Amino acid sequence: MLGDFGMIAPRPGRNVAGIGMTSQRTRARMVERLREQGITEARVLEAMAGVPRHLFVEEAFASRAYEDSALPIGFGQTISQPYVVARMIEILIQKKEPGKVLEIGTGCGYQAAVLASLAAEVYSIERIRGLLERARANLRELRLKNLRLAHGDGAAGLEKAAPFDSIILAAAAPEVPQALLRQLARGGRMILPLRSGAAGAQQLILIERSARGYTETALDPVRFVPLRAGKA
Ligand code: SAH
Repeated sequence: MLGDFGMIAPRPGRNVAGIGMTSQRTRARMVERLREQGITEARVLEAMAGVPRHLFVEEAFASRAYEDSALPIGFGQTISQPYVVARMIEILIQKKEPGKVLEIGTGCGYQAAVLASLAAEVYSIERIRGLLERARANLRELRLKNLRLAHGDGAAGLEKAAPFDSIILAAAAPEVPQALLRQLARGGRMILPLRSGAAGAQQLILIERSARGYTETALDPVRFVPLRAGKA
């Protein structure tokens, strides 16, 4: 069973706007770079222009928060690189409404915040309790009322909130978790990094569910932390 299932309580706190290198302008430059890299979806660019990424990385790395790189967030995990976040969400919502979204691998909560800025409803599951608590703290002051976090093994999905119009995995699985296929709504889309044959190789996979079944499309080669079983 999933515990820790609830709303994020608002709390007055740090200055969300930040200063200097962590300002709105730095973020605007990141978005400009995403455009140059080929991201065209306005909803994604707008959401990423609005979420203060520096609040999600460890303080020692705050000055590098807007670089296009993955950074450590503790517990041996990383915050995904901005381009990868943008690209995955862009594919997920292409020519459709994101609707009700499930994210597997909350990590520091950054991608969850981006998703909650553009979708009606977002659920995000993390298996490491300490990280989930950190994400909760990072997210609190953004007051995203449509985002719910849960502690659990994301491979089982979130039965009580299913079906989902969109499912996104931030950790690489050896195969598509069956529970997630079942919890994907008809007309829905799932995007995930899958481990493929060669050692360490991974590829982004898009799965679309229609009335007739599932179709799978292989996309870019990527590098994600592994999807692990059970809670920690
Ligand atoms: N979404 C994050 C990326 C986090 S990295 C961001 O915005 O940058 C991937 C996360 O997936 C890690 O925190 C890891 O602990 C988590 N994870 C791995 N296997 C999992 C599983 N089975 N269920 C839920 N979370 C999992």
